[in-house]
Order: sequence, then structure tokens, then C-alpha cells
Amino acid sequence: MSRNRFLPMEYVWLVTAVTVWNTLCFVLPDFFDNPADGWKGVLTITFYVSALAVGQFAIAAFLSVSRYVAAVSLPLYAVLGAVLAYYRVAFHATVNPVLVDATLHTNPGTVAGVISWQLAVWVILQFAVSLLWVRWRWRIGRIPCPWAVSLVSVGVFALWFWGNGRLHKSAGQRFPVHVIRSVAEYAALQRTRNLPRELPDVQTVCPPDSLDIVMIIGEAARADHLSLNGYGRQTCPRLSGRANVVSLPHIRSQHTHTASSVPHILTPADSLSPEKAYSMHSFISCLSRQGYRTAWLSNQDYGRTYSDFIYEADTVVFPNASKTVFVFHPWYDLDLLPPLKGLLLQQTGAHRLYVMHAIGSHWYYNNHVPDGCELFLPTVINRVITQNDSISVINSYDNTIVSMDQFVDSVISLFSERNAVVFYLSDHGESLGEDGNWLHAAGAEETKCPAALVWYSDRYAQLFPDKVAALEANHTKRYRTDYLFHSLLSAAGLRVVGADAENDLFCQRDE
Ligand SMILES: [Zn+2]
Repeated sequence: MSRNRFLPMEYVWLVTAVTVWNTLCFVLPDFFDNPADGWKGVLTITFYVSALAVGQFAIAAFLSVSRYVAAVSLPLYAVLGAVLAYYRVAFHATVNPVLVDATLHTNPGTVAGVISWQLAVWVILQFAVSLLWVRWRWRIGRIPCPWAVSLVSVGVFALWFWGNGRLHKSAGQRFPVHVIRSVAEYAALQRTRNLPRELPDVQTVCPPDSLDIVMIIGEAARADHLSLNGYGRQTCPRLSGRANVVSLPHIRSQHTHTASSVPHILTPADSLSPEKAYSMHSFISCLSRQGYRTAWLSNQDYGRTYSDFIYEADTVVFPNASKTVFVFHPWYDLDLLPPLKGLLLQQTGAHRLYVMHAIGSHWYYNNHVPDGCELFLPTVINRVITQNDSISVINSYDNTIVSMDQFVDSVISLFSERNAVVFYLSDHGESLGEDGNWLHAAGAEETKCPAALVWYSDRYAQLFPDKVAALEANHTKRYRTDYLFHSLLSAAGLRVVGADAENDLFCQRDE
């Protein structure tokens, strides 16, 4: 083998081989998934792939300077790169602090559920190939001037990485170092959490003698897929035929994934004071102070960002605690009805609050659609969402909305003879192929428009005609999800000291 006086040619060949392999495996698949449009598209892709290869070359050169460093770093780099590439192609997911948060605050079974055999095979293959690079590097031995080679590699990488804004963003999402950066950003965010909580300052205005309040936290239901809001398919056959159902078609969610959204919805947090989601108690504590019996019935997990609120309730019920998302098991919100009926029979007291956390429209959609709700066919067949055609995904998604309609209507029917108000608000929306996006948590516009509605009983309407008139007048206006905290307390005859009426659905607003 020929030897260069300054650098062994074998070292150059190794770095080139690692670069070509990593570019083919970690960079190119993403472009295959988003095919080029005409010859200009092909030119753009060629430019990007070549440019990204330069960065890969600098990294490979740096990691291979020392054979000891190479033995540790090349396999690690291969595994991280493989995972990043897989999730970008399979889920269009980029690792970011939000995804780290979603991963850490979901139960371990959920995380296990997204690990498929395809991912396992892919990672093992990359790991095995990286061992071949390590073996090759080991045979080359020590190279001359290792510090000079390291400095030049880092310099080239730094110039390349920060030299072009667009390239920087594109490369940043594809390089394994991005995982480490995201975890660090996430850790910084965490330092603002887990603060001692304060009780919101609430005053009594006109409390009813008896009242049941139900708050259903929906999951990934978007407003524009409800027939109540004019969607072309009949996705709400039951609620459409029920009296006193008021849909709120123009709600905007500050957050696009469960772990951030639920604390925001339950507390007086708003866009000016988002930290209140982590520094204040929820409306559960406010109503407990007013003598309400409170219960939390969950069809999801104990997310760490909202477990504090679960413990604010007197009674906690998890009928499906062993279920995990992303796996093929039937898992219905209707399972919450038997424990709810049980509590209604057992619990005494004139004032009661039931918070229900639904699994709703969470992927894998078909799992959450009971018999009789599968109105739209064909449905999805592959749990990797991008492996299904978009019509099937939308059919399956719409079937989850039909299931939500059945579930919410069934809850309402338990309270129809009582003095009661039922709130439904989804934690966020869902992407259904817009700009190639699916699922949620990436901050896409369509994930910020959650479904929301309110139902009141005839008895409530008789007792509080002004509140009901205000609700009917306000429901088509635009609100942030901040309205929920204030409106729920207002339904109970309470108000937050110092808050103006703009977030209260039950208060007439002059505009
Ligand atoms: Zn969610």
C-alpha cells in the first residue's frame, strides 16, 4: 500500500469510505423520501448531498485521527446517525427538545412501541459496518502530526457548518451531535420546572347549590375534522343530534404535544405567563377548596409534566394503565365509562368534578376505534405512518373522531338529568400530510387548531340563562386554550381575581 510522507493514503481512503457510506445511509434516504421535482430539483439535491458530504468528511477525519478515539466514536456515531435517519424517514421526526420531552414523559412502553424490528436491523447493520471501519483504522496505526490533522478537520467543519445558514439548519438535523444538543437544551428547559406551586386566587361570584363539571382532555383531535364545524364527512353523528352542544371551531393551542399542552390547559397559564403551567395549581385544587369532590380518570399515562395535577384529585382511576401507544391492541376511551358510572353511584356531595384524559386520536389510530365507529374505509395497515397511503390515514383518523363523538356523547348522557356542564378540549391538533407532515409535536400550523366543545344540561340552562346566552354568543369567536381555565371556573360561579372577562365563554363580551 502506498504511503504519503505526511498522511498515509490508507487513512485518506478510510475517511473517504466512511464519508460515502454515511452520506448514502444518513443523508440520501431523506431526499428519496422527498423526491426531486424536475431537473432543478435533482440539481438542488445533488448540491445539498455533496455539501453535506463535505461535513461528513471533516467529521470522519476528526474521529479517525486516533485509533482509540475511532474505536469508541465511530460505532457511537453510526448508531446515533442510524436512529436519526430512521425517524426522519419513517416519522418525519427531527430530534428536538420537544421530542426529548415527549420521549421522557411517556411511559417506557410507549417508547418501546416505536422501536420496530426494521429499526433494530438497521441499527445493527450500521453498528457492524462501523466495526469494519474500526478494524481498518486499527491496522493503519499511528498517523503523523495527529494534532495538525485534528485542527484542520475541526476548522473545515466549523467553516462549513456555520458558513451557510440554510446548510447549517439542514445539516444540524442530520448530524448525531444534534441529539446531544437537543438533550442539553431540554435539560436547560427543565430547570424552569418543578417549582413549588401556588394556588390561583379565586373569588366566589354565584355558586350553584349543586353542580357536576366534567372536563374531557382530548388527544390530537383537530377542529376542522368535526362535522359540527362543517367538515364534509359526518364524523359527529351523535353530537350533531344532541341539544345544548356548542362547538368552538376557532381555538388556538399554544403547544403541539401532550406534555406541554396539558399543564397549560389546566392552569391559568397564558401566552404572557406560560410559566404558570409549572408554578400554579390547576382548577382541580381551586374546586377542591370550594368543596368539590374531584376525580381524575385517565386513559393515558402519568406524564411527569402533569402528574402534579393528577394528585390534586381525591380519586384517581387508570383503567388502561398497562396499555402503550404505537402497539396493536384495542384501547378505547369507552373503557372510562364503567369507572365513571361507578363514581357517580358511590360519590356523595353536591359538587363534583371529573377530569377525563382520553387517548382520542393518538396514533395508531385503528387501536382507538371500537366496533361501529369504523365508518370510513380502507384504513391504515402499517404502523409506520408514512408506509400507508394518505387516504387510508385520513380514513382511520376520521374514524377516531367518530369514536370521540360516541365517547363524549356517552359521557353527556350520564349527566343529562343533572345540573351539569361538560367541557371537551383536545390538547392539540394533528398533521395529516400537510407539507409532508404527519402526527404532531413538530409545531405545524394544523396541530395548533384543536377541537373543542361545551355541553350544558337543561337544568343548567334554566338556572343560568345569562351564562348560556353568553356561551351561544361567544362560541364562534377566536380564543386561545387559555379560555378553558377561566370558563370552567366561571361555569362553577367562580372567577380568578384580577382576570378580565375576555377568556370567559360564559360572560357577554361587547365587540
Ligand atoms: Zn397529545
